Amino acid sequence: MDAARTAAGADTAAAAEKEQKKLDKRFMKAALTQARKALEKGEVPIGCVIVYEGRIIGRGYNRRNTDRSTLSHAEINAIRKASRVIGDWRLEGCTLYCTLEPCQMCAGAIVQARIDRVVIGALSPKAGCGGTLLNILQNPDFNHQAAVTDGVMFEECSALLKEFFRNLRLENKRRKMMLKEADAEADTEDV
Ligand SMILES: [Zn+2]
Repeated sequence: MDAARTAAGADTAAAAEKEQKKLDKRFMKAALTQARKALEKGEVPIGCVIVYEGRIIGRGYNRRNTDRSTLSHAEINAIRKASRVIGDWRLEGCTLYCTLEPCQMCAGAIVQARIDRVVIGALSPKAGCGGTLLNILQNPDFNHQAAVTDGVMFEECSALLKEFFRNLRLENKRRKMMLKEADAEADTEDV
């Protein structure tokens, strides 16, 4: 290959990479919209979308408390919907976007569904199975491995989670103080 052709090839590759980054951001924004739906329900704000041929075919958000089900994670809910649209449990050719690194259950489901690629927002130091604690998504011993891109819109994804947990801590503190005050009042009434 001559130098000009090599340069043209590199240009095309760079343009394709730039376009992919733009698309990744667009779909991560859609996953963040799902995460905000979880937040509105008082759930840990985690969202997910699944994309096939440039189109979102499944959306999901964390509904663990709402559904009273440990299975109701964002990714599982999105996988269920995408499978309904495709009409198959195999989701080959799909990319999954999640605002937080998948847990062991979701990473397992992603491998089982044979999803091609996973795009992650924030990493999960307590449950991440896309490389943080374990790398279930890319274990060479399984019959399928997904390509992984992380850190897409990392700030937005982690800020949403941080805000949720900060508010939760404040709310718990407020509740504790109210209980303490009620206790003190009851004590004085006793006397
Ligand atoms: Zn999960």
